[in-house]
Amino acid sequence: MDPRLLLLLWTPAALALEVTLMNTKLETSDLGWTTYPRSSSQWDESSGLDEENTPVRTYEICNPNLPQQNNWLRTNYIPRGLAHHIYVEITFTMMECASIPSAGRSCKETFNLYYYPANSNVATDHFPNWMENPWIKVDTVAADTLGRPSDRVRGGSLRSNVKTLRLGPLRESGLYLAFLDQGACMALLAVRVFYRRCPAVVASLASFPETVPAGLVVSVEGNCVSGAEGKRPTMYCREDGEWARPAAGDCVCLAGREETDGRTKCTACPLGYFKQESGESPCQTCPQHSLSTSAGATVCTCRAGYYRAPQDPATDPCTKPPSPPRSIVSNLNGSTVDLEWSEPQDSGGRQDVYYEVRCREYSAGGGWVPCSRLFFTPSPQKVEERKLRVSGLRPQVIYNFRVLALNGVSERSGAPALGEELNVTIDRDLPHAVMGIQQTAASASSLSLRWNPPGPPQSPNRGNILDYEVKYYEKDRERPFIRFLKTPGTQALLEGLSAGTVYVVQVRARTEAGYGAFSGDNTFQTMAQGAFLLPDPEKAQPQVELIAGTVGVGTVLILIVIIIAVVCVRKHGSNKEPEYSDKPGQYLIGHNTKLYIDPFTYEDPNEAVREFAKEIDVSYVKIEEVIGAGEFGEVCRGRLKVPGKKENYVAIKTLKGGYTERQRREFLSEASIMGQFHHPNIIHLEGVITNNCPVMIITEYMENGALDSFLRQNDGQFTPIQLVGMLRGIASGMRYLAEMNYVHRDLAARNILVNSNLVCKVSDFGLSRFLQEGSTDPTYTSCLGGKIPIRWTAPEAIAFRKFTSSSDVWGYGIVMWEVMSFGERPYWDMSNQDVINAIEQDYRLPAPPECPSALHQLMLDCWQRDRAVRPRFNEIVSALDKLIRNPASLKITVREQPGSSQPLLDQRTPHYSSFSSVGEWLHAIKMGRYEDGFRNAGFTTFSRVRQMTTEDLLRIGVTLAGHQKKILSSLQQIVPAEKMSGGSAPFY
Ligand code: AMP
Repeated sequence: MDPRLLLLLWTPAALALEVTLMNTKLETSDLGWTTYPRSSSQWDESSGLDEENTPVRTYEICNPNLPQQNNWLRTNYIPRGLAHHIYVEITFTMMECASIPSAGRSCKETFNLYYYPANSNVATDHFPNWMENPWIKVDTVAADTLGRPSDRVRGGSLRSNVKTLRLGPLRESGLYLAFLDQGACMALLAVRVFYRRCPAVVASLASFPETVPAGLVVSVEGNCVSGAEGKRPTMYCREDGEWARPAAGDCVCLAGREETDGRTKCTACPLGYFKQESGESPCQTCPQHSLSTSAGATVCTCRAGYYRAPQDPATDPCTKPPSPPRSIVSNLNGSTVDLEWSEPQDSGGRQDVYYEVRCREYSAGGGWVPCSRLFFTPSPQKVEERKLRVSGLRPQVIYNFRVLALNGVSERSGAPALGEELNVTIDRDLPHAVMGIQQTAASASSLSLRWNPPGPPQSPNRGNILDYEVKYYEKDRERPFIRFLKTPGTQALLEGLSAGTVYVVQVRARTEAGYGAFSGDNTFQTMAQGAFLLPDPEKAQPQVELIAGTVGVGTVLILIVIIIAVVCVRKHGSNKEPEYSDKPGQYLIGHNTKLYIDPFTYEDPNEAVREFAKEIDVSYVKIEEVIGAGEFGEVCRGRLKVPGKKENYVAIKTLKGGYTERQRREFLSEASIMGQFHHPNIIHLEGVITNNCPVMIITEYMENGALDSFLRQNDGQFTPIQLVGMLRGIASGMRYLAEMNYVHRDLAARNILVNSNLVCKVSDFGLSRFLQEGSTDPTYTSCLGGKIPIRWTAPEAIAFRKFTSSSDVWGYGIVMWEVMSFGERPYWDMSNQDVINAIEQDYRLPAPPECPSALHQLMLDCWQRDRAVRPRFNEIVSALDKLIRNPASLKITVREQPGSSQPLLDQRTPHYSSFSSVGEWLHAIKMGRYEDGFRNAGFTTFSRVRQMTTEDLLRIGVTLAGHQKKILSSLQQIVPAEKMSGGSAPFY
């Protein structure tokens, strides 16, 4: 404890005690003190009255005229008791020498006090000698107030003096006092001899006994008061009988008690309070949900229904078990069920909620029994998160799950609250056992195996095979190390095996219902060391080792064929599935080239197809519905299920019957081109079917179809940042094509496909459209040397067929414009010739409505007359990335951009007066679909239409925000009624 605090807390409990050893005032008979020398002029004992008129014994002397006097007056023996020092209080009167007419020169106004210590009353008339030494002088005492004879004459008494003198230390048992008069005229009215001692006190929660000071101070150790403990404090008893402040040591109140009454008591904590440990802190109120039933509580007990966990401090509120968990849901996946639930409504006031999942299964014979042979992840006993995976569920078994919420006090409370119940059953059959496991190759360290899919035919209830699990171990080892391998198909390569060793192999199939039974044991033996090594599948490097004498030449030849096949397949595979990185220049196409190869440079274009496109077995493909019309036939949606792979939706382009060989080549050339590209923003070729009729090209399926129609259907539905995200994807795909030296020539929103995640992919790599004959699509205008989509094509490509990645950049600018105007036709209904002329005169498309100016600027950059100064695709990607990172930059929109190129006349919102009816106007602004709604709601004239509000539009059924905006912004352009001729153009 801070000593300064002690000083503050300590208050002197009592005044010093005085113990009287002798008091003449209390004597009722003669004092009988001894005088020397015995003469008439000696000290004279007489009786008198003190101030209170109490009779007292006094000694007087008055010889002011006698010279050389030494008149001793010795008290009787005074035992000192416990005193070490004693005080002598002398009350006396003294006459002023000057006022005594007879006083001689020897008259004095002082006297001396002496003492003589002695262990017993040994004094006689001659002993001790009447002289200083053996007597010890205490002091010469002078009067403060002197009297005169006249004082008496007036009937008054002389004013007395009181002097207290201290003497000691005393070791002997007692002492004598002696008064030596040497010519004073005085009277000793009273003499009191006493000593002082410190009274018993309680301070700092300790009691200190009454103490007689031996010396100036004496250190006294106190005892902690009842209900307190600690190091005993000390106090100093001063020689004047007063206590000095407590010194070191400290008593503190025990648990259940607190100090009161100025640190003198430890009082029991009152009801409703507690104190857990001894110390200085006061009692605290009982924490929430607890109470103390008697005074002096060291801990508060929890109210009924509330508990404390063993590790909970007594200062924490009492808590209760949580309420049950809520909303338990299951997600069954094969033989695995994922359980999830919501946290309990009431955590019981604790943070340590956890869960326990109880599982029972229904057995036909025995009713509900605890679940067996299931795997729980994590362990169901103490689940911290609100989810649990249970695997190994068996089909046709009813599993019942209950989730319990528990916390640190659940154990104390007895039965925890059970959550909802959930029953889970797999109503699928498990796959049959795998049969016919065969060895297809072996080396000293590996075994290649294949097997038949489980049969007989799977029942519809059995589901698709997801994968197989191969279990294998050394047959002759006592405690073999069992290994497992998963494989999607009906073959497996077991590697890292020991040479010349027999392995036991089992295989089982897995469907959504779970694993089927393992096949029976099959044994296979690896080659002896040094016999023959299969190619290292990682490196695809054929390695041939010594052929063991036991292996026949035929086997060797078969193995060599396998090696070559594996090498070829892997090499081909690496061409087909290159690594992709979104960083420019990091597309690994084949081993050493990343340039596009024109399939028409092949002498036999079929060779290009074989090189770049995978042949797909027709049985893997299921056509479902027609989704569009391509150059050569229908485009369908279907499913592709390659054994061992996940089933996928695909788009299937067909070549309609009656084609010529040239058409077939042209049709398949798209696959040869597409097959060379591997990029997330380029449509992915799955493969081709050329061995069957019809010939098909199979690509990934893009749920949202072509970008232009998709945008038109969702006019106004996307934010600028979403649109820029789409544009970024297209630019990234184009960057890839440009890096491969591939010029698309037909970059347009209609040739971009959109998937369900709004990812845009460049498609349409067919060349036929550009060829003179065949195509009847008006988008493609016949020019010298081929057909050209004028509105999307750069002037140099139109003029002298200079198609480059820079002309693709021009087309990209047009795509940007299409995207930002939600599929508007570039240059609206201007004729191709007008477009060519306008471009020639440096007119350019204006910014689409609400198009961020940065994007329009990028479009204008793409439409630079000089192709050398147009941005490159990598620059376009960077520019778009910058905009995406800084979305605020997309908020700036201006209607016209300054620059060398002039914007075309803005044709976005034609003036109403150019329309003869509301219907015509709606069609012109591409809102014709609402024509009926307008008419039915009575908005048949422009004067009425002008009054329309958003609520009116909603009532009519214009719920899309983009369409509302379009109509209302177009309405704002309608001139005020007073300027309108007639003001009420008819609806029709
Ligand atoms: P195309 O012959 O490539 O122009 O395809 C004609 C139409 O078929 C396209 O405009 C799309 O609507 C549709 N289409 C083509 N390929 C796909 C695909 N991979 N996914 C979805 N739709 C497609």
